Amino acid sequence: MNKLNKFMRRDILSKFKDLLIKNMNDLAVMVSEQHGKTIADAKGSIQRGIEVVEYATGITDSLKGDHSSNVGTNVDSHTLRQPLGVCAGITPFNFPAMVPMWMFPMAIACGNTFILKPSEKDPSCSIRLAQLFSEAGLPDGVLNVVNGDKEVVDSILTNKDIKAVSFVGSTPIAKYIYENAAKNEKRVQALGGAKNHCVVMPDCDMDQAVNGLMGAAYGSAGERCMAQSVAVAVGGIGDKLVEKLSKKVEALKVGPGLDKNSEMGPLVTKEHLEKVKGYVDLGVKEGAKLVVDGRNIKLQGYENGFFIGGCLFDNVTKNMRIYNEEIFGPVLSVVRVKDFNDAIKLINDHEFGNGTSVYTRDGDVGRTFANKIKVGMVGINIPIPVPVAFHSFGGWKRSLFGDLHMHGPEGVKFYTKLKTITSRWPSGIGSDPEFVMPTMK
Ligand code: NAD
Repeated sequence: MNKLNKFMRRDILSKFKDLLIKNMNDLAVMVSEQHGKTIADAKGSIQRGIEVVEYATGITDSLKGDHSSNVGTNVDSHTLRQPLGVCAGITPFNFPAMVPMWMFPMAIACGNTFILKPSEKDPSCSIRLAQLFSEAGLPDGVLNVVNGDKEVVDSILTNKDIKAVSFVGSTPIAKYIYENAAKNEKRVQALGGAKNHCVVMPDCDMDQAVNGLMGAAYGSAGERCMAQSVAVAVGGIGDKLVEKLSKKVEALKVGPGLDKNSEMGPLVTKEHLEKVKGYVDLGVKEGAKLVVDGRNIKLQGYENGFFIGGCLFDNVTKNMRIYNEEIFGPVLSVVRVKDFNDAIKLINDHEFGNGTSVYTRDGDVGRTFANKIKVGMVGINIPIPVPVAFHSFGGWKRSLFGDLHMHGPEGVKFYTKLKTITSRWPSGIGSDPEFVMPTMK
């Protein structure tokens, strides 16, 4: 537990926010250099992290308890939200600044201390964030960064002093974290992988849908858990959608993340590049139609870079692995369905349930979609429905193991324990023993 009172925490978080804004460019360069995403995208992700810090700055309001007077004669009840103690966070490679900032500002604002284990693929940003927090006045020991891989993770999962674990990463590891943290009596929220569908209805503004899909499928080279990797073409619009998309995918500007003209940077590692290319090979073998093939692009001066161009598949079907598995690269699959009900069924049958969107001009369709879809974050004419900091982020089905989502009000619940106190003053009244369930009358 940190020893700072709520106002001290607020003031330090507020200074931390100012330092993040001041250092935005340097942080974005660090994210872009280590991860590969474009500098503009890196800045956007840091801004999203800053918004969580801002929310955490004002968290004092959410930490207030309730009070009920006279629940019985001379009896009052009130509640406290108390910190858990030491909390830990394990984060993925794809958002080296934003995802850690979903966790530690919230945990610390709630009064906990925090151990952050960032991805071994791009760990520097976490160290820099901790330095800036320290510069803002955070005492030593409140935020700790440890680097490493499975060995460090396992020591977090078995350490008795750690009371809660937040995880973001792939589904198999999320499940492993959930099971093992729970087995060791820790509170756990483990966010996993995704396969997000974007439903394109025949009545929609097709250009708006195509532009939305381009950013959502190919932004950050598809290395986003909220990337739209499946476009569901409803009714007879498949040909028109594929034609419009293919022109834009072919025109995508692929280049180094630090080049301001780049729309899409490289993938994170050579190993990941090979994995993504392997999925494109597989899609061809499975019988999907590869409309745009980005596998063989070469960038002059960057021949050894981990670049792949945008790929677009048409006629992808439910039984294909490229449909069922998360590729986590710039590969968009078009699945054609007969009607809106088939689109809903397709999405609800999928093992993942992180994000989804529908493009339509029909309010009834939008409302039905929002109500019936088994997915945690839903967009209506919004391509990437990432909730703002004062709402909470999290998927359904195998995209989240645990009950509480990240940041926002759910984050406060995750990083605090509820205590309810019932008291009677003066203490001498009603002192005869009672052997029935107290009714307070
Ligand atoms: P990953 O699961 O490989 O790694 C995530 C973290 O787990 C890292 O810190 C890593 O060191 C650790 N780890 C890896 N293997 C481990 C093991 N065997 N035992 C214990 N710990 C282990 O994920 P990644 O490749 O870094 O990130 C990409 C994945 O993260 C994608 O599946 C993506 O969808 C997911 N993601 C999900 C969300 C979300 O909010 N649901 C957000 C971002 C990323």
